[in-house]
Amino acid sequence: IEPTTTDVKFSDIAGIDEVKSELTQVVEFLNKPEKYLKYGVSLPKGVLLVGPPGVGKTMIAKAVANEADVPFYYQSGASFVHIYVGMGAKKVRELFSVVKANSPSIIFIDEIDAIGKSRGVSGNDEREATLNELLTQMDGFDDKSTVMVIAATNKIELLDEALLRAGRFDRRVYVELPGLEDREAILKIYLKDKPFDGDVKEIAKMTVGFSGAALASLVNEASIYALNR
Ligand code: ADP
Repeated sequence: IEPTTTDVKFSDIAGIDEVKSELTQVVEFLNKPEKYLKYGVSLPKGVLLVGPPGVGKTMIAKAVANEADVPFYYQSGASFVHIYVGMGAKKVRELFSVVKANSPSIIFIDEIDAIGKSRGVSGNDEREATLNELLTQMDGFDDKSTVMVIAATNKIELLDEALLRAGRFDRRVYVELPGLEDREAILKIYLKDKPFDGDVKEIAKMTVGFSGAALASLVNEASIYALNR
């Protein structure tokens, strides 16, 4: 279990200003925990980023780690899913022990619905054991703990109630598909170093329903096409 290094900054992310301002506070807490602890304010233990794929959830979590200058541990929910009962739970325990030893730090769990689905629906013992371990570990943080768990999902309705309870993922941040202005800003980021001669506003108007990731690949595909011609 090794931290990933990242150089993503808030300024690399176009739009989603509300999301950024919510997370700026988390960055501040990780940077200056004394300021908050002095007044008995504790860090939210978990932040759940909810939104469709490709809107920048992973990117923003990386930016939080980078701006707070703390190690970033990336795990996908699916990597905890094993065949043998107890294996996933063991992995959760190992992860948290490494991360706590390196605190302040951030754990990012992508697609948490892979482990966080409501218990008892499908009767999957392995997944239940993994989820229980995750809940136990999050409860085990004391108030001075500066380990932050950020998770992402696009299916919040499937998640177990227990995960959403106060003291676990008590911050929920919704990341939406970019609107007209945000699409324009994202396109500008990806067109920055390209010999582009056109109307960004027009393209932003034509790309209703595109995520940030889709816009990035649109620019890339267009560049390949232009080079081939
Ligand atoms: P998610 O985790 O929500 O599925 P990602 O964070 O993995 O999405 O985003 C995938 C890629 O899409 C990013 O690496 C980035 O290139 C691009 N992207 C998405 N949203 C934005 C944004 N708001 N600004 C700039 N690039 C973005």
